[in-house]
Amino acid sequence: MSFDFSELPRRSPLSGEQLQQLFAELIAADTWHQYSGSYGEQLSTLLREEYRTEHCTLCCSGTIGVELALRGAGVRSGDEVIMAAYDFRAGLVCTQQIGAQPVLVDVLPEQPVIDAERVAAAITPRTRAILVSHLHGTVAPLRQLREIADTSQLSLIEDACQSPGLSHEVADRVSDAVVLSFGGSKLLTAGRGGAVLTSSAAIAQRIRIHTWRGNEAVPMSELQAALLIPQLQQLHEVNAARAAAVRAMLTAGGVDLPFRMLVTDEFRKCQTDESGRALAVFYKLPLLLPSVPRPEQRERLLRMAQERGIPLGTAFQALHGFSARSRFRAEGSLDGASNLADRLLLLHHSVLQPDHSVSLLQELVQILS
Ligand SMILES: *Cc1c(COP(=O)(O)O)cnc(C)c1O
Repeated sequence: MSFDFSELPRRSPLSGEQLQQLFAELIAADTWHQYSGSYGEQLSTLLREEYRTEHCTLCCSGTIGVELALRGAGVRSGDEVIMAAYDFRAGLVCTQQIGAQPVLVDVLPEQPVIDAERVAAAITPRTRAILVSHLHGTVAPLRQLREIADTSQLSLIEDACQSPGLSHEVADRVSDAVVLSFGGSKLLTAGRGGAVLTSSAAIAQRIRIHTWRGNEAVPMSELQAALLIPQLQQLHEVNAARAAAVRAMLTAGGVDLPFRMLVTDEFRKCQTDESGRALAVFYKLPLLLPSVPRPEQRERLLRMAQERGIPLGTAFQALHGFSARSRFRAEGSLDGASNLADRLLLLHHSVLQPDHSVSLLQELVQILS
């Protein structure tokens, strides 16, 4: 093998040189230990510019960010929140934490994307919000959901934890609030952290009232913010490099791969927009197996990948798989989400680098054949 993939997963998003420069700056300024200050302010400004919003709340995780966005949208006990049955668990649990009811809608066939056509049927007088994520390099149908939300006066919350810096061309900023994660494995990371972006003064105010308890209850530290600023400044460049790596895999792959890389049609045609923002942002690249593998077969594939240092993992479990029946409502069949959860494998972004993408693809073909 020409390249040792096991070297890659532990790589920090900032180089040693960048970190040394940053820490020298932090020592000189001697303000990192304060409750709040210029780093948090600068990060907020950069995020507001990137997402073209008026307000930014920095917080301790993407998970809490989802809860704050829901609370900000006025979701209360007894309300309903519509979401895809295939999604990260945070949306479901945060909704339940507020005392509201998750309403699960199926995804499009073989795609980790909510089936917007099914959303309207899930709306009841108790529905307060639609929560939707851009998952595994795909893009949620925000425009379509915005129309549905407007018709029924619902809030639309966009979980962008997996796709910071996604092109505005594909993800029109029509949602009421955007949630970001800066958690330990994410594309922008301070180990922990999150943010909620909104242009709604009402949402921002409700979040402020909820989080302010004489002090910030779920804060981000100055040190975390300081580590995120240089990452945000290089985000589009790094996203574009990752997109190029996926592009190289798509073109090298041919037609008889033992899996299908799920990428959008827009991305197949072109990888970045005119501003240099990626048309698909890959926190994890989704590989769809042709059929549901037996559990022991899947275990074997993942073990083989692990032995070769390739960070390949399972998909999310479908949300109806781990919540008590009484704590959510299903809108029709959720078979698409179950099937996807069983057939999808996810490749972590740390190995998506242009120089190694062809040898990576060859390794994956060997493992998954
Ligand atoms: C990671 C993730 C979150 C939660 O972020 P944390 O910072 O880890 O709490 C929420 N939604 C999605 C889609 C995620 O991938």
